[in-house]
Amino acid sequence: MMDSDRAAERAYMVQAQLRDRGVKNARVLAAMGRVPREVFVPPELTRRAYVDHAMAIGHQQTISQPYMVAVMTEALSLTGNERVLEVGTGSGYQCAILAELAREVYSIERIPELAVQARDLLVEDLGYRNVHVRCGDGTLGWPEAAPFQAVIVTAAAPEPPPTLLEQLDPDGGRIVVPVGDQSLQYLVSMERAGTSFTSRKTTACRFVPLLGLEGWKEG
Ligand code: SAH
Repeated sequence: MMDSDRAAERAYMVQAQLRDRGVKNARVLAAMGRVPREVFVPPELTRRAYVDHAMAIGHQQTISQPYMVAVMTEALSLTGNERVLEVGTGSGYQCAILAELAREVYSIERIPELAVQARDLLVEDLGYRNVHVRCGDGTLGWPEAAPFQAVIVTAAAPEPPPTLLEQLDPDGGRIVVPVGDQSLQYLVSMERAGTSFTSRKTTACRFVPLLGLEGWKEG
């Protein structure tokens, strides 16, 4: 199939899966209309890159459903000036959307092969100069780059990791994180004002587990 067909599939995804379901943020819709999702899926799945669900990317991990990427990104209300932390780089797709919408993106992935692959794709191939990927336990955040105006966790947590809350900008920093057990979670959006946090529980979702010191125990 040709690139122009992909562009048509992408435009249809934005309309049918995002706009028609209530995603309104114009910058989020535009970013999802620009980023070529097909380069973030395994080669044998390129044809299915714009389907309406998560897909396996190897190492028992997944690339999130486009709708979930849009809803989580919208919850961060990015204006373009933010330093953003992502926990769970995976394929790098969500990271690319963030890179389109914020000043700097710091993304942490615990599986070395995925971290290297995503960094190569994002920085070398796609040329995102504002993306920083490292391998490690993202529940401990990225202290040297904190505070963050926005934090996004793309794996299921038993509770919002306290260290990530500490690394939020005290002046209005936001975090979105799927919280629940390992089979069902709800997105939790929190906003920080000094030492206090407001919290909202929204969309039901299903993510792979956040494994780490402030997540689920490994093994
Ligand atoms: N944002 C991704 C979806 C990732 S799936 C995308 O757009 O494709 C969740 C990812 O979180 C997996 O790759 C998994 O290995 C990673 N992960 C799980 N626990 C982690 C932790 N403690 N630190 C960093 N990454 C973690």
